[in-house]
Amino acid sequence: MNTFICVTCGTQFSPSNEPPDGCPICLDERQYVGDGGQQWTKMAELRSEHRNRVEEQESGLFGIGTEPSFAIGQRALLVGGLLWDCLTLLDDETATAVEQRGGIDMIAISHPHYYSTMVEWAERFDAQVLLHEADRDWIMRPSERIELWTGERRRLTEDLELIRLGGHFEGGTVCLWSSGADGRGALLAGDIVQVVSDRAWVSFMYSYPNLIPLPAREIERMRRILETHEFDRVYGAWWDRVIAEDAKAKVLRSADRYLAAINGR
Ligand SMILES: [Zn+2]
Ligand SMILES: [Zn+2]
Repeated sequence: MNTFICVTCGTQFSPSNEPPDGCPICLDERQYVGDGGQQWTKMAELRSEHRNRVEEQESGLFGIGTEPSFAIGQRALLVGGLLWDCLTLLDDETATAVEQRGGIDMIAISHPHYYSTMVEWAERFDAQVLLHEADRDWIMRPSERIELWTGERRRLTEDLELIRLGGHFEGGTVCLWSSGADGRGALLAGDIVQVVSDRAWVSFMYSYPNLIPLPAREIERMRRILETHEFDRVYGAWWDRVIAEDAKAKVLRSADRYLAAINGR
């Protein structure tokens, strides 16, 4: 039996003898099947060609990302026993580096594009995976370690809380780390709130690769939720996608700019 991994999105499927018929995550209009059709790989192959970089982003927060880049190329974050978002490659070197930084008790993931090999990570670190129930149909490798949470907010620790924002996916989740940015608060945003190339702004899309926007009412709803939380920094889904300061104002004005654009103003 193999646990096949989709090359385009990095998602690992339940053990099987033959590769799955297709990858529902990539067949969805928010993703795409790569040039040359559906392709699969396995963890052993990944380990032979890639390494993970583990690097401190600020005191107590570590980034973990794969080099050379694989699939969607996101880097995960490790903070206070939480692995925020996940990545496909897990090897001994990474596990040792993570253990040295306190290990993983919980894995929480912003949306299905980063489910990746969450079950392998959970088994390796004896951790629980928290996913929003609204995205349950996108779980390609079910496990007893996965707990589906419901509602709008879920407190994890004294200074970590999950907030359902929706948008890109119905269960789209961000994580508020209130001790981050020297106590001013940091938002771990995945691509639910997407830090864009101009790091003074963010955007919110239904599909990033296929450039499908969200409706105005959804942007307004997300803006109303974001307005009620305090944060000064945003960590997006890639190493260089970080808003270092004054992030809340930048996020809110980005929502206003988006609404003006789609409303034709
Ligand atoms: Zn895929
Ligand atoms: Zn995504």
